[in-house]
Amino acid sequence: MRLTDARRRVLDYLAAVEPRGTAELAREAGVSAAVIRGMADLGLLLSVAIPAAEPFQPPDPSHPGPQLSADQEAAAAMLRQAVARREFSVTLLDGVTGSGKTEVYLEAIAQALREGRQALVLLPEIALSSQWLSRFERRFGVAPAVWHSDLTSRVRRTTWRAVAEGRAPVVVGARSALFLPFPDLGCVVIDEEHETAFKQDEGIVYHARDMAVVRARFCAAPAILVSATPSLESVANVEAGRYGHLHLPTRHGGAVLPRIEAIDLREDAPERGHFLAPKLIAAIRDTIGRGEQAMLFLNRRGYAPLTLCRRCGHRMQCPNCTAWLVEHRARRELRCHHCGHAVPIPDKCPACEAVQSLTAVGPGVERITEEAGELFPSARRLVMASDTMPGPHAAAEAARAIEAREVDLIIGTQIVAKGWHFPFLTLVGVVDADLGLAGGDLRAAERTVQLLHQVAGRAGRAEAPGLVLLQTFSPEHPVMQALIGGDLAAFMTSEAAVRRPGHWPPYGRRMCWPAISAWRPRGRRA
Ligand code: ADP
Ligand code: ZN
Repeated sequence: MRLTDARRRVLDYLAAVEPRGTAELAREAGVSAAVIRGMADLGLLLSVAIPAAEPFQPPDPSHPGPQLSADQEAAAAMLRQAVARREFSVTLLDGVTGSGKTEVYLEAIAQALREGRQALVLLPEIALSSQWLSRFERRFGVAPAVWHSDLTSRVRRTTWRAVAEGRAPVVVGARSALFLPFPDLGCVVIDEEHETAFKQDEGIVYHARDMAVVRARFCAAPAILVSATPSLESVANVEAGRYGHLHLPTRHGGAVLPRIEAIDLREDAPERGHFLAPKLIAAIRDTIGRGEQAMLFLNRRGYAPLTLCRRCGHRMQCPNCTAWLVEHRARRELRCHHCGHAVPIPDKCPACEAVQSLTAVGPGVERITEEAGELFPSARRLVMASDTMPGPHAAAEAARAIEAREVDLIIGTQIVAKGWHFPFLTLVGVVDADLGLAGGDLRAAERTVQLLHQVAGRAGRAEAPGLVLLQTFSPEHPVMQALIGGDLAAFMTSEAAVRRPGHWPPYGRRMCWPAISAWRPRGRRA
């Protein structure tokens, strides 16, 4: 049996999505329906019944929810009032990781339901939100309507219609849910409002957070921005008095915030060709030994970010971009993370033709997983990266396995930073805390603080206290100091002070002008 290109496209497409009807599958994979039928006849595809789209059950605002703490209740009361006023307002709900922000804003949604209005919740990664969905169900008795780009066209149609007819009281979705035709929206929530995933850079450029605020204004409804690490934009709006501010200072149920420490890689150096410092290795061993879970975070997919010829120094680079090609050892290829260009790993250097001279430089999660396998052979390991865990089912299954303590060590990219609640996870090791600081991005420091604080916030969310170890070459850097000291507000204030005088965002806008060298008056040649 031959796996033709067309058949392979169908299988590749199906690997990342839920089952599809024949016509839609053919269209999405760019093959004819005959190819699909042929594959079914050969047993390459199984036919399964796709459940009829369920009518949306109305969430019940008086379904008994959890008992809120005094702080939570105070914040929830303010939000309920904002919804009941039926006026536009914006509130920043800022609370430490694990403070129960979700339980609080679910109360605003309950109020919208009591008012007979609809509610919209935007999440940055809807595919990673199985835990969020079960919490919603626990609070309201039924699941909400879900909206993202991976829905079948049939579900998309029924959901769109249900929203338009007011039959879907609550929608949770990706940023595109902003464009659904709600007739009577009573509250808009943007969870993890600092997330860059909310910004759309291609096609029509917009920021979902800003659009959500506009949308709320049109509907005379409150917008609620939620984060443990609010964006500088939102902090500036609070300072200017444009946004209200609610703060949850402590973790729920007596859990304490994790202790954060730096490991100075200049002093506590990993073994040659390895990337985990002795101190981090010892901490992982202790944690697993106590029957708790540990997590290693490195925001880089693949095996190694650079492949270099040991003889001539040639670096494997993408022919289309200026980026280095990232080695993906399991797939035996070098891949550009910008444009997707991929080539098999060559057996000799393309420049000097030396054989077996190409060597991997630096780590990606694949390489860290290999190192962890040598160090902790009996630990049950789980890799969470977008290329090893495509689609909502894989993410939900990973979350289930971790909650059920079938995993000792989690190794992942930024997927692991998302709002997960893993009660037995007590150690987080950041393999390269300096990674996001390179490059000239104006927001590099702000983003690094936000991302690392989010990752750190996964540790110690239940009874056992958490520890976070940051591997860095510059423990004295303001970003590391802010994380270790836990004073993010002070860090944001000093970031703001740097940007304000020059009218850098959010205190001004950057505009694009043609670079002088590239721009010449028409008709003249240099
Ligand atoms: P955050 O979003 O602020 O990081 P979460 O909303 O995820 O925090 O809450 C952390 C954990 O505590 C969740 O498992 C949540 O269900 C639980 N929790 C929060 N508030 C309460 C409460 N009042 N009663 C019971 N459980 C709560
Ligand atoms: Zn490229």
